Amino acid sequence: MITNRVSKYVLLLSILLSVSMLLSSCSSMTGNKRSKSSLNKLSQVEETNHPDKNSGENNVAKPTPKIIPRTLSSNVKLPAGAFLTVSYLDVGQADSVLITTKGAAMLIDAGNNSDGAGIVSYLKNKGITKLDYVIGTHPHEDHIGGLDDVISAFNIGKIIMPKVPHNTNTFEDVLDAISGKGLKVTQPKVGDKYKLDKAEFEILSPADSSYSELNEYSIVIRLTFGAQSFLFCGDADDANESAILGMGENIKSSVIKIGHHGSASSSMESFIKKVDPKYAVISVGEGNSYGHPTQQTLNTLNSFRTKIYRTDKLGTVIISTNGKTLNINSVKTSIDGNSYSSTAKDNTPKATPKPKPKPHTNTVSAITVYITNTGEKYHRDGCQYLSHSQIPISLTNAKNQGYTPCSRCDPPY
Ligand SMILES: [Zn+2]
Ligand SMILES: [Zn+2]
Repeated sequence: MITNRVSKYVLLLSILLSVSMLLSSCSSMTGNKRSKSSLNKLSQVEETNHPDKNSGENNVAKPTPKIIPRTLSSNVKLPAGAFLTVSYLDVGQADSVLITTKGAAMLIDAGNNSDGAGIVSYLKNKGITKLDYVIGTHPHEDHIGGLDDVISAFNIGKIIMPKVPHNTNTFEDVLDAISGKGLKVTQPKVGDKYKLDKAEFEILSPADSSYSELNEYSIVIRLTFGAQSFLFCGDADDANESAILGMGENIKSSVIKIGHHGSASSSMESFIKKVDPKYAVISVGEGNSYGHPTQQTLNTLNSFRTKIYRTDKLGTVIISTNGKTLNINSVKTSIDGNSYSSTAKDNTPKATPKPKPKPHTNTVSAITVYITNTGEKYHRDGCQYLSHSQIPISLTNAKNQGYTPCSRCDPPY
């Protein structure tokens, strides 16, 4: 009996050992397969130490650790004249966002390869010589394409990129530019916070280190400045949004840069509901072949009365704030051609005058009208000009987005 047990035990142990050996050889096989040259290069330029926060608040040596409030910046009194400007550059079907304050600058993504030179001169025209942070959300060309040019052209503080192998010349060029300047890559870690002058941003994603989709490695950050906050979603998708929701963090943001160019793989209703954005910016190319942004995403945003700003329609969208109020402008800028026309437009929604109390009528914002995919008019329910696409939208949003009343059904507002 005892011998029988022992032999069973030995058998079990040997099975376990061989399984674990098999497993480790599997993982090293996949490891080898995945860690081709780009990953090796990434490891070379990777920062080995824990990312040092500019704020220094997480300094281990600090004798009396204090609990840092989660919404630090909103409690900080901003000095007079402080401002933050977020420019969603029109780089076609790609992403690039410039964030500047009085004394600091930061770039999230740098468009396609062909946008590099244009972005560099755009930044130089703004008098920028140093980028305190450069974030490459994920290695797709429409995000990191122009990063090599940017890295080579400016003083760079910190480069934050996800650790993910990707074997394209574009990505190799970025890694070469990084190592060429002797810089190190900082890995994004969920919950890490960084200071940008008087603003602060927190990493919300990626939470995992292995995903099946490259988009899911996207770095998502929430930046706060005074009472205003901005969420930047890269090409993150539903799975990332669920993970972020699961964190239970405060992600309410005044402005959201919609994930994945308005694709249906992002912007879940529950996510948008939690973010509760007043404004959404969609970085998207005119007439792109992906059908971005999708009607589903637009409908979701409309249902939450989020005002939408699209780079394909408006050009570069520039939002500036003093920490209290937001100002929204757009400028038709051709990043590709390095030309900066002066056709600036003030897109700040005009403060809707307080409705005079009329006891027996609805307030304007509660009225629903209908728009179509392509038309520029808003309609009454059931208007014959509402073809198959009939999208409900609040009257306020319809007016804010430039829709005018249909002359046939003549909506009485
Ligand atoms: Zn993209
Ligand atoms: Zn992507």
